[in-house]
Parts: sequence; C-alpha cells; structure tokens
Amino acid sequence: MFDQPFRQVAALWIVFWLLAPSATVAGAPHYTVTADARLEHLDVRACFEATVPRRLTARDAHAPDLLRAATLHTSAGVIALQRQGTLLMLPRTDAPACVQYRVDLNGIGRHWRSDSWRARDVIVIDPALWLWYPGGVGEDERWRIDFELPPGYDVSAPWQRVGRNGDTVTYVVRERMPGWEARTAIGRFSVESIELPGGRLRYALLPGEPAADAAALRRWVGSGARALVSAYGRLPVADVQLLVVPIGHGREPVPWGEVQRGGGNAVHLYIDQRRPASEFMADWVLVHELSHLLHPVIDASDRWLSEGIASYYQNVLRARAGLRSAQWSWDALHGGFERGMRGTPRGRSLAEVSETMMRDHSYMRVYWSGAAIALLADVELRRRTAGVQSLDTALAAFGACCLSADRSWSASELMQQLDRLTETTVFMTLYRKYIDSDEFPELDDLYTALGLQPVSTTRLRLDPTAPEAAICAAIMAAPEDL
Ligand SMILES: [Zn+2]
Repeated sequence: MFDQPFRQVAALWIVFWLLAPSATVAGAPHYTVTADARLEHLDVRACFEATVPRRLTARDAHAPDLLRAATLHTSAGVIALQRQGTLLMLPRTDAPACVQYRVDLNGIGRHWRSDSWRARDVIVIDPALWLWYPGGVGEDERWRIDFELPPGYDVSAPWQRVGRNGDTVTYVVRERMPGWEARTAIGRFSVESIELPGGRLRYALLPGEPAADAAALRRWVGSGARALVSAYGRLPVADVQLLVVPIGHGREPVPWGEVQRGGGNAVHLYIDQRRPASEFMADWVLVHELSHLLHPVIDASDRWLSEGIASYYQNVLRARAGLRSAQWSWDALHGGFERGMRGTPRGRSLAEVSETMMRDHSYMRVYWSGAAIALLADVELRRRTAGVQSLDTALAAFGACCLSADRSWSASELMQQLDRLTETTVFMTLYRKYIDSDEFPELDDLYTALGLQPVSTTRLRLDPTAPEAAICAAIMAAPEDL
C-alpha cells in the first residue's frame, strides 16, 4: 500500500526525464531542424554544449549535393566550414558552439521509389541525405532533434518520438543499424500513436492526390496491427514508424511495401488510394510487412527464412484476426506451397536460390519453401509439447531475449538460437534437411496428419477427424483476448 506514492513520483519523474533535454547524454548534440511551408529547404542547427567534434559526417555520398552554407557559431564569431566529401571539418574550438547548415530540397524529384522525393505538401527523405552528425557516436548515445514546423505540419521518423509541443516535434535519435535505409517524412499530415500491448505504431498517412479515405485506411491499418498482436499477444517491437504513402496508381491496393531498420523499426506501404476499402481489407501486404517485425534482421542471402516467416504469418494472422476464415488461410498456404513446388528447379539448393532470388526471380521457391519450413517447425513444436510450444512461443521467447540486438542474423544462427530457447532440435533439424536440398520441403505426412486434403492446387478440404486436426485448428485460432 505504501509504495503507491513512490510509484506516482517515479512515473512523474520518468515523464519529466522523457520530456527534458537530459533525455540525451550530457554533451551530446542538440539539433533543431526548421522547415518552411513550401518545403524548399531544411535549416539545421546542431549545438554542442561540452565537446565540439572535429568533424560532422553524412551517411550518403549524395548528401553534399544538398548541403548549403555550413557555418560554425561560437562566442568569438562565425566561421565558414570546409567540406571534404561527406566530412564537414570543424576547427578546434571551445564549447559551446553550434553548427548551422541548410539542406536544399528544391532539386528533389517526384519518383517515389527514390531515397528522396516530394509530392504536394510533403517531402520524404533518407536522413542519411540531410543529417550531418559527429562520426563514431557510441551505441548508447542519444541526441535530441527538435523539428520546428509550419502550422499543420508533422514529421514521421524511425527514431523515438518524444512528443509534440505546439509546432515543435521532438525525436530522440540513436545510431541503430547504421548503413540501413530509413525515411523521414515532413509535411502536411499528422502522426497518430496506435497504442497496443507491448508498444505502439506511429501511424502517418501522407497527403495524396486524390485524397485518400483516411477513415477507411485507419480501419485497415488497425486490423493489420491487431493481426500482428495475435502472434503472441503483444507487439514484437515497442516502437514502429508506420508510413502509408498514397501514390495514386497501381495494379493492386499496395503496389509496394517494405520494412526498414535504420534508426528504428519501420514499415512503409505505398498504396493506390483510389482502390475501394474492401480491396485493402482483402490485401496481404500490410500483414506480411508487419509480420517481418517478428524476426530480427536476417542476412539477405538467407531471405528464405525472413520471407518464409512473413509469408506463413501473413495467412495465419489474418485468420486469427478474423480478416479471413481458417479455411481461406489454409487454402492460401496450400496455393503458395503449390506455386513453390512448381517453382523449384532441380539441381539448385535452397541456399543457392535464396542468394540469387533477385536476379532470377525465384520468389515462389524462396518464399514458400521458407513458409513450408515455418509450418513444419510450428507443427513439430506443438506436437512435441502438446501445444505448449509453437512457432509463436519460440518467436516470443526470441523477442524477449534477442530481438532488440542491432545486428543481422544468419538463418543458422537464428535457428540455433530458437532451438536453445525451445530446448529442442526442431529448427536445426529442418535447416540441415533443407538448406542444401534441391527439393521443396516435404509436406505430405504433415498434410495427412493434420487432415489437409488437397482438392485442387488452390483448395483444401479440412478433415476434422484427422489424428492431428486439433493442431490445424489451433494454428488459426484467435487468441481469447483479441
Ligand atoms: Zn517480405
């Protein structure tokens, strides 16, 4: 009973800590970025209270193309700064001092697949192109960026969003997965925090022409978020930048979706906002991309595993969230496995095909082999433990121990770790069986045991009297509290 006041004080202190400049490490720079309403430039001011670094650096080789008029401001006066490539050289000086520079956004084009582009009332740009910062910042260092924006504007970034005060939006930046892509969007939109067990999605719908149906898209995004939470009851990562970008054309509702890890966790969806709401609710890309958050960064050469996990869960989670029936989801998995089998050429191993997928477009073989291995692992864990363990619980355990590590995992490293966490050999047994095999993973016995009876290449009959039909039902069952 007596700990109540203490908890209140502690909570207030935490809020204060988050809002105060001391949220960053003492001596770390404090950035202020000012945008104009026409988004012609960003004026950046980086102030150093303690040590002034000898140089600032930008991660992208094209950053100098946008850089204008960099100066150092000290009590002694103003000095023009010299640049060498992506290094901005600072003279030795006593603190405190501020670097000021302008980023020229005028030359940025309109091609949305680029790392910087603009549309009406919005600019989307990789921070590697505009953020000049002290090189060699430690992993634990945090620095604060205040964005001073025109009224009605907001900024979406992969970093930790502290909050908004009038027209100033504050983020705390940490060097995470340097070299990985990231996007900042600045413009006439607003960021909404979708609070969920385990964290939040920071959702921003960017302006588009024609204007998107914001209410319908919000429902769609909410349904995807609910589906993700149905994997194991909470978000796998605490803070996600969720950017929905209307591009006004496409042959499907979401022509492109991707996960980015630079600076934080981000899911970006490029949509054709002219499509009806029903098509968005029926589409797979949102849940597929969100499902990628269940696993860590996996080496590109092992993409069968990352794409396998996402392809498996895009169907499982939509059934759990009630977006699709269990029958529909089993049919979709079966259809995927059939396409994977048809796309499996003899003489090329899963490891080889995963490496060359982008070149030879062997997506079906790679995605659905991985999904088949995910299903095999899921069923085997449920089987051995009478349903206590599953792929969900294995990934939940991984989420608790290892997901926040800022690094890329090979498939064998990750599967060894999943074996350790589940105290089984389920994952590495599958890995060894299939990684060098030129055959699609063997599903016949699993189909028979679970009562999955193929009717066609896209349809299954589900036999509820099959010996392990209960596993089949459990995989697609909604968690009770969803
Ligand atoms: Zn994917």
